[in-house]
Amino acid sequence: MNADLVVVGTGFFGLTVAERMASAGRRVLMIDRREHLGGNAYSEDEPTTGIEVHRYGAHLFHTANERVWEYANRFTDFTSYTHRVYTTHRGEVFPMPINLGTINQFFRSAYGPEAARALIREQAAELGDKNPENLDEQGVRLIGRPLYEAFIREYTAKQWQTDPRDLPASVISRLPVRYTYDNRYFNDPHQGLPVDGYTAWLERMADHPNIEVRLGTDFFDTSQPVHQRAVVGQVPVVYTGPVDRYFDYAEGELSWRTLDFDTEVLDVGDFQGTSVMNYADAEVPYTRIHEFRHFHPERDYPSDRTVIMREYSRFAERQDEPYYPVNTPEDRERLRRYRALMDGEQDVHFGGRLGTYQYLDMHMAIGSALSMVDNKLS
Ligand code: FAD
Repeated sequence: MNADLVVVGTGFFGLTVAERMASAGRRVLMIDRREHLGGNAYSEDEPTTGIEVHRYGAHLFHTANERVWEYANRFTDFTSYTHRVYTTHRGEVFPMPINLGTINQFFRSAYGPEAARALIREQAAELGDKNPENLDEQGVRLIGRPLYEAFIREYTAKQWQTDPRDLPASVISRLPVRYTYDNRYFNDPHQGLPVDGYTAWLERMADHPNIEVRLGTDFFDTSQPVHQRAVVGQVPVVYTGPVDRYFDYAEGELSWRTLDFDTEVLDVGDFQGTSVMNYADAEVPYTRIHEFRHFHPERDYPSDRTVIMREYSRFAERQDEPYYPVNTPEDRERLRRYRALMDGEQDVHFGGRLGTYQYLDMHMAIGSALSMVDNKLS
């Protein structure tokens, strides 16, 4: 094989490793089982409107990591987009995350920061010193019953298809409440969207004479020239696919939640006036609606059509796209055993959200790939 390194998976983790190693003079062969590069950050223009749609769910770039920010800016400029989220509850729209605006609208009040803080403290004390035994009690302990039941309870039940009384308290460790009217979703100093789209950014990372990309190539498909048994032991491998799949599920399957997306082109210029609207109530089956035109107000999109995407959440079957680790105690035990197996693999490095079974934002995937290059591959 004409490569010094095989990278399985062309998401941000794999691309960062490949780009760094290629720039250091190594020949890198990347494969991906999908027909496009970029992993879950991939986006494409909806053909009839030209509106950029994030195929695997809305992706907002944000980071406080200066090294990652500097690295990302080598491949793309960013717009000044600032992410804001609203939620619909009982026919009324509230700003999220919960802030002074949400509190005053919800309680029909005009509290200042201190009065609001005192109110939430008092409501959160309802359960006294009792240790929360489930997510319901944890929610009440964190922000008090009224706000928890309005904005978190049913939304979380939809995300997990499970009554929060049957979910462990550990699912939520904190629920941010801001005692200002600041409703920016992310606190990070750097945020924005790639000026000419995610796919242009992702393609530029792979655009190096030392990088070859083969799409539609599954690492476990033995009919392909580049597959697990042909490669491992011959060439160093960076593997960013699911860790349980790599070991043929020897320790059992790790559980994931997946999302279903229902995309629709509408004959209106603006459907909801904002990019993301959550639906907090159980009666609405989807968790949120994305309207992609609002991610790029600077672009010249058609004024009479728009693209929306409804998002539904459920537990993943083996054939589904794995999105968020469920992370039950059984999963954690399985992962511990998989880690022991990983340690036994010669010259195979496991990375990214699937390879390490953890949710990673894009900046975290890029940051941990840079660390892998520094610490294990250089
Ligand atoms: P991925 O992007 O998943 O790439 C893994 C690649 O490996 C895939 O292309 C897959 O096809 C390939 N692969 C798997 N198995 C095989 C195989 N057997 N053979 C060959 N190839 C294989 N991050 C943010 O910063 N902001 C956001 O707003 C945000 N929103 C998100 C919304 C959703 C719904 C999800 C799921 C994630 C979101 N993320 C967001 C996280 C972001 O998608 C990840 O950080 C990023 O995808 C991680 O990159 P990765 O390379 O680890 O994994």
